[in-house]
Amino acid sequence: RTLYLNGAWLPESEAKVSVFDRGFLMADGIYEVTCVLDGKLVDYAGHAARLQRSAQELGMALPLTEAELLEVHREIVARNALDQGLIYLQLTRGVAERDFVYPPAGTPPTLVMFTQAKNVLENAAAEAGIRVALLPDLRWGRRDIKTVQLLYPCMAKMEAKARGADDAWLVEDGFVTEGSAATSHIVTAEGVLVTRDLSHALLPGITRASVLELAAAHGVRVEERAFTPDEARAAREAFITSATNFVVPVVAIDGATVGDGKPGALTRDLRRFYIETRRASAI
Ligand code: PLP
Repeated sequence: RTLYLNGAWLPESEAKVSVFDRGFLMADGIYEVTCVLDGKLVDYAGHAARLQRSAQELGMALPLTEAELLEVHREIVARNALDQGLIYLQLTRGVAERDFVYPPAGTPPTLVMFTQAKNVLENAAAEAGIRVALLPDLRWGRRDIKTVQLLYPCMAKMEAKARGADDAWLVEDGFVTEGSAATSHIVTAEGVLVTRDLSHALLPGITRASVLELAAAHGVRVEERAFTPDEARAAREAFITSATNFVVPVVAIDGATVGDGKPGALTRDLRRFYIETRRASAI
């Protein structure tokens, strides 16, 4: 692969970052993941805007203009001849002596981008659905910022797998927050799509926003509010959304079957609508 590192294009064997990088020492960094389909960027505007917001919330500055950022995204796809997969972007506060105080203004940030090939259209989980385990949400209090502090989501996913599930749904104060790396949604017996409202408790998913818009456009009633594990277990359908998984059905929650145990009809429709519309609008 050819990677982007601070303005340079390098083979992956030559792309190196200092051990004093604050991303490495302090997890002082943010990231974005943008899906690539047909060699084009899916929902790019949302991901670029969220990156800006994450940077702003942490007092970090992006070293590229909006136009340059788009150009680098396009160039990394071209240089890697990527048809389907993702672009991972990470921005840290750069290299400095280890200190809890941020480095002085003017310290160059570290900006890395790489691609990963992935068949995003043919996804076995999308056909069969996934099983989730409910686990306590022990992450920090600003989950709306997409930081590289991903240890707890890793622990939760490992624990979910140890329990025989595919992934975790996290629970705080009696309500589901989100998945380890995806937004959680349910469809009630009345056919209402319920998704947690945005706050510091969860990441504002870009796929979430698109799917809610598509659902509303197709006449589905949407409620943005927190829901409980009991409501989720009693739901007619459940699903997750994320940039490279699009919409994936959840067929079991803590061992309890969701609906008839098969991917729900609305879930399948939303996956199709998402892929059709975002494929057409990819840039
Ligand atoms: N929530 C968390 C914790 C995530 O890591 C992600 C990332 O995939 C999402 C939600 C979904 O966000 P998006 O749809 O922007 O990929």
